[in-house]
Amino acid sequence: MNKQELLKIKKKALEEKIPIIMDDTLEVIEKYLKKDKPKRILEIGTAVGYSAICFTEFLAENGVIDTIERDEKRAREARENIKKAEVEEKINIYEGDAIEILPKLNEKYDVIFIDAAKGKYTFFLNEALRMVNKNGIIFADNILYKGYVLSDYNKHKQRTAVRNLREYIKETSENPNLETEILEVGDGLAVSKIL
Ligand code: SAH
Ligand code: MG
Repeated sequence: MNKQELLKIKKKALEEKIPIIMDDTLEVIEKYLKKDKPKRILEIGTAVGYSAICFTEFLAENGVIDTIERDEKRAREARENIKKAEVEEKINIYEGDAIEILPKLNEKYDVIFIDAAKGKYTFFLNEALRMVNKNGIIFADNILYKGYVLSDYNKHKQRTAVRNLREYIKETSENPNLETEILEVGDGLAVSKIL
């Protein structure tokens, strides 16, 4: 991968206020994936490709990443960025709404990274559970949403998102096939290991 280009992509994304993965979140994910490198990763929410490009460093040899983005302009920029970073053979972008694309996928994945519409996290979780391999991991970014999720905050226009994120935490915590931790890194990261 071309690290020089990655830095440029990161800088531009931050300038444009695109909510790319935070450095500490990325470090935590890297730690989880170090021992047992994933062959296949699914990402929900590509934006301009920054996190997917970073994740290529965590893949096993010949590993691949599928990533879904519904915003046409961002998907196009992600394609350009992936080319610039010289990782186009490792990343496949599905352009469209994950709500429509996920039910059509029938692949298996070692790692699934949920990072799209917060009001849809429980839907994404159920699709992820269907496709994740045993001993795999499901990560959900922004799970604490600026602290709203663990506070008594509930009168905001984002309350649907907050309610759904709380439900995600409840479902993953109560699922006997999962071992879930909620980490206060970045904007909150849920880590669910598949037992
Ligand atoms: N993972 C990226 C950041 C993603 S930001 C990174 O860390 O670099 C969230 C993205 O999810 C946005 O670009 C948004 O357009 C996309 N998104 C939101 N809801 C979606 C959906 N239902 N289907 C597909 N993409 C979605
Ligand atoms: Mg995020």
